[in-house]
Amino acid sequence: MKTINDFVVTPLETGSIWLDGGAMFGTVPKVLWEQQHPSNATNQIELAMRSLLIQNRQHNILVDCGLGDKGGEKFAKMYHVDQNTHNIKKSLSGLQLGVEDITHVILSHFHFDHAGGATSMQPDGSYLPTFPNAQYFIQTENLEVAQTPNPRERASYLPENHTALLEKDVLTKLNGEVEVVPGLSVKVSYGHTCGQQHVWIEDEHTALFFGGDLVATPSHVSLAWVQGYDLQPLVAIEEKKKLFDQLIAKNGWVFYQHDPKVVFSKVQKNDKGKYEPIDLQLACS
Ligand SMILES: [Zn+2]
Repeated sequence: MKTINDFVVTPLETGSIWLDGGAMFGTVPKVLWEQQHPSNATNQIELAMRSLLIQNRQHNILVDCGLGDKGGEKFAKMYHVDQNTHNIKKSLSGLQLGVEDITHVILSHFHFDHAGGATSMQPDGSYLPTFPNAQYFIQTENLEVAQTPNPRERASYLPENHTALLEKDVLTKLNGEVEVVPGLSVKVSYGHTCGQQHVWIEDEHTALFFGGDLVATPSHVSLAWVQGYDLQPLVAIEEKKKLFDQLIAKNGWVFYQHDPKVVFSKVQKNDKGKYEPIDLQLACS
């Protein structure tokens, strides 16, 4: 938990998933990434699907909402999905909150492991927004990609994660780097997917950047460690560099969605000019 500006920031575990280790680190050889991310017999590594709750007097803002009820049994088995140990409802109830208390849901992007929990299947097979009193926020460009995905990303953008939000008219489309509520704005990146947005809050002492899939784990602080999933790896590298310089200037924190252990860290530039994570803060299990 952190307090920045008038916001209280609390990580929320929504579950875990095992994805291909090579795909998470692009061209980085396994001999390097497996030290930090041990793989199973099928080369998968454990990843968290962590959300962030940002609260002040007026708002309960949820940033991303995990996989939710998407994927099905075959998928859950293939990717060792665990939403029993942790899930969004359990994590919220640990804070004496329910889905009806969430006022804003800011979605980084519509990939299923970030936005699957945005909607929930009803007994008749239809979908409704999971957070009945919330307004949802996405970048217009990311919604457009989700509606007409390219072949490479088609499996990650499921229509059921956005159609119910549009039908119920609860989705606000944002254009670029804007303030969503006073004191909370978003930055936008294009390296991982088109129009991913990253919450940014700051005060006079520090800042917080929501890493999303641009900086998924502390290992991704190294500039060349970009995901194989990224659409534009060289763009992702430039975006990370710019962002880390801003964070270093603010003595700020990165929030990690996918690392099973590390939730926050700061970043420093070492004497060889390489960026590295410091002051690692671990998840409470
Ligand atoms: Zn993604």
